Amino acid sequence: MSPFTESHQLLRQSFRQFVEKEITPNVKHWEENKICEREVFTKMGQQGFFGVSFPEAYGGSGMDMWSAVVISEELTRANIGGLAMSLYAHCYLPLPVINALGTEEQKQNYLVPALKGEKIAALGITEPGAGSDVGGIKTTAEDKGDYFVVNGSKMFITNGTMADFIVLAVRTGEGHALSLLLFDTKITGFSAVPVHNKLGMHSSDTGQLFFENCVVPKSALLGEKDFGFYYIMSNFQEERLIASVTGTASAENALEKAKQYMKEREAFGRPIAKFQVLRHKIAQMAIKVEACRSLSYRAVGEYIEKGPAAYYIVSVAKAYVCEEAFNVANEALQIHGGWGYMEDYGIARAFRDLRLLTVGAGTTEIMHEIISKIEMDEVRHEKVQIKARV
Ligand SMILES: Cc1cc2nc3c(=O)[nH]c(=O)nc-3n(C[C@H](O)[C@H](O)[C@H](O)COP(=O)(O)OP(=O)(O)OC[C@H]3O[C@@H](n4cnc5c(N)ncnc54)[C@H](O)[C@@H]3O)c2cc1C
Repeated sequence: MSPFTESHQLLRQSFRQFVEKEITPNVKHWEENKICEREVFTKMGQQGFFGVSFPEAYGGSGMDMWSAVVISEELTRANIGGLAMSLYAHCYLPLPVINALGTEEQKQNYLVPALKGEKIAALGITEPGAGSDVGGIKTTAEDKGDYFVVNGSKMFITNGTMADFIVLAVRTGEGHALSLLLFDTKITGFSAVPVHNKLGMHSSDTGQLFFENCVVPKSALLGEKDFGFYYIMSNFQEERLIASVTGTASAENALEKAKQYMKEREAFGRPIAKFQVLRHKIAQMAIKVEACRSLSYRAVGEYIEKGPAAYYIVSVAKAYVCEEAFNVANEALQIHGGWGYMEDYGIARAFRDLRLLTVGAGTTEIMHEIISKIEMDEVRHEKVQIKARV
């Protein structure tokens, strides 16, 4: 049974029209010139597409997580992974944290304008020396009584050079004592440079960030001091769900492209669609797409029911879908032969953009770590309780 209601279908229709009008005609230009347009954020916000799964009190539509699935699936149809990642990195990485932990003042100052597309957001966790090992981050926020002083740097931050504010992970003590700050990028001592030499996701803004004696008011603290590590672990669930849904939709797009090409292309005097070896590839790809969809939809369903406590199935979906989606794109490229290696059919872009999914939002190896710990009964109970706080 479809999880999508009539409201979801209406949203799908109107967002599909938006993508066709505002995004699809610009894909080639933005990708070739590595452009991420601020204007797209403004238009998304003005039309309410960022806020679909956020509370009405803050400018959202108050719909459930299936509405975010609709947005993700429709955006993926445009085959522009970079821009899609920038839009998710604005909406589904930092904003759920503010929604869950923010004070009323923080929500009015950051969540509301971000949902309207007036302010661009980023999530700053990864550092040059620490990605998977979140507990190893070195950027410090020294407590000076009325304010913090932030020093350090962040790496690979999506929207890093465009962001008006960053939900920033900082060290406030030893071990896992991290905290989250709502960092305003106008603060003196902050600077950002673009990271240009990426394999794919060309239409996204990726930045390296520097913090030099940045004075941050105490009012910027999100949630409780020193609880940041657990907030981060909890917040990853939404990011991983979106990665799973996007991976599934991208794999489906790649499959469609491969089927289309097989019907058009001839070799040895007949359409390549007549070769059984390729037909079986299509069957195997279709099976993988179905498995990816079932798993990611099941994870969304459990997340709606249990929140971050659904992290087992979310990790399973993230691990499986992101690996298999790339495998499907790889086979789709193979079916395109030499033309698959060119930009003409869009399959090269889908292939290189999908490659990021097994690395971002927690690598496949980290997903395997989480799953194996749960399977081996090694998860400590109190951590699960803290996760449920967010
Ligand atoms: C284009 C792009 C956009 C990104 N956007 C953001 C963003 O917006 N915000 C943000 O904070 N970060 C972002 N990232 C960072 C991304 O989340 C990290 O790159 C990712 O988490 C991996 O961290 P790392 O690069 O430090 O690799 P490492 O952690 O150094 O991993 C290297 C290898 O070691 C493996 N490994 C590490 N630990 C273990 C372990 N315990 N067991 C087994 N294997 C292990 C990994 O799986 C990997 O294969 C982005 C990255 C890219 C490339």
